[in-house]
Amino acid sequence: MKILLVTSEALPYAKSGGLGDFILSYSKALSKLGEDVSVIMPLYKQIRTKFPDVMKDFYDQFDFKMSWRTQGCGVFHQLLEGVNFYFLAMDRFDRDNLYGYGDDNERFACFVMAVNTFITRHNVYDVVHCNDWQAAVLPLLLNYNPKPIKTVLTIHNPAYQGWAGRNDLSEYFNLSTGYFDSGYVRLGDSFNYLKTGIMSADKINTVSKTHAQELLHDHTSFGGMGAIIDWCRHFDFSGIVNGLDQEVWNPLTDEILAENYDVHSYKEGKKTNKIALYRALGVSDDFDGPLFSAITRLSAQKGVERIMDIFPHLEEYHARMVVIGTGEMEEQFGSLAARYPNVIFIKRYDENLAHLVYAASDFFLMPSYFEPCGTSQLISMRYGTIPLVSNVGGLNDTVADVSRGKDATGFVFRNDDYFGMVNSFYAACSMFQNNRLDQMIVNGMNGDYSWSKSAKDYLALYQSIDWK
Ligand code: ADP
Repeated sequence: MKILLVTSEALPYAKSGGLGDFILSYSKALSKLGEDVSVIMPLYKQIRTKFPDVMKDFYDQFDFKMSWRTQGCGVFHQLLEGVNFYFLAMDRFDRDNLYGYGDDNERFACFVMAVNTFITRHNVYDVVHCNDWQAAVLPLLLNYNPKPIKTVLTIHNPAYQGWAGRNDLSEYFNLSTGYFDSGYVRLGDSFNYLKTGIMSADKINTVSKTHAQELLHDHTSFGGMGAIIDWCRHFDFSGIVNGLDQEVWNPLTDEILAENYDVHSYKEGKKTNKIALYRALGVSDDFDGPLFSAITRLSAQKGVERIMDIFPHLEEYHARMVVIGTGEMEEQFGSLAARYPNVIFIKRYDENLAHLVYAASDFFLMPSYFEPCGTSQLISMRYGTIPLVSNVGGLNDTVADVSRGKDATGFVFRNDDYFGMVNSFYAACSMFQNNRLDQMIVNGMNGDYSWSKSAKDYLALYQSIDWK
């Protein structure tokens, strides 16, 4: 099968969150299963500057129309670990950040139109697998492709949807405004990209079974996206949990760590990494209390207030917290963190420091209000760091609560429990002081987070689509 993954981000080139992890690890897993897999994404400025080698193979070049405008696009190609990466060079993506611009809807409309042109020119793909709102209008456009193509939309985060106006159907996508007037792509008064994908892709999925159920049962959140899925696409919708790239995230081979370790040597290994981290952060390394951490987008979704709730308790429990993050709550978070000497806040995106923090920490905080899958809890467990999580989405599916006794891998509290985060913190500190964490650490490190099952589930999903 020839598969094309359409995405706005992918490791190692450009990443802002779990989607970047997903694309690289899943595409490698497909390639290992013998599939012919390609990834297509924008050529951001940071890719051009940090990975100049991608510019060596100039693969294609074409123009396409967005209504009356003509847009040029260059295509570069790089083969990475058996996966063909294609980078679309357009001026709109030659900026400092991936997202966060007032014209993001138009930028990703442009991306989708370019991918559509690319597919039509080469027309070799059996399956086009679109990810999140940035790629969600593509399945509708592919209905007009002369060769039948199977389409899948994966929803990694239903909170981000892409909103545009009625006329943008024709302005950006050369489509009839009839799609809006009939309600097919409309949500409220807007043309909604994510809804368009939900209505038009052959199959839709999200990235855990629990989150799939949450969407089907919660008709009011996410602007009613769950209701649309439940009423319009119930039988084409499923949940497939993400795997982890166990080569990238392996404490035994991770070159960024101060000392490598495995399940037999984690005590010494984690201790060395903790000292290295404290030195790197410029704080005293003579500290034997538990280290809690979070590496996250600082957005409300991630339960940032719940993390802040712990600040006043750190000193009493002789604990420290390290947080690496950026996002809309960074100012609020930073100003409160500054009042607590036991909180170290690093306000930036730092992939290398993240590796060291995963290895050095005793506990990882992920008290999300919703979490379609989550990557960080998987990385934590693999690095012998015990996650404290709310019982939502993929967190619920991948972390076994302390009440599971010898099978436990973390602390899972109820999302509707106001004191859940703080109580889990108390319990974690108490077990740390009493040296009762080894079984949990070992269980987490021995867990199977590979793609072996989930990649096959995706292939079965592709195969379940009838040729049109
Ligand atoms: P989401 O995709 O919702 O942001 P995930 O848990 O699925 O959340 O994925 C987050 C990924 O991004 C993890 O690999 C995490 O380590 C990484 N990450 C998030 N924020 C930062 C940061 N400031 N610096 C380095 N890595 C980060």
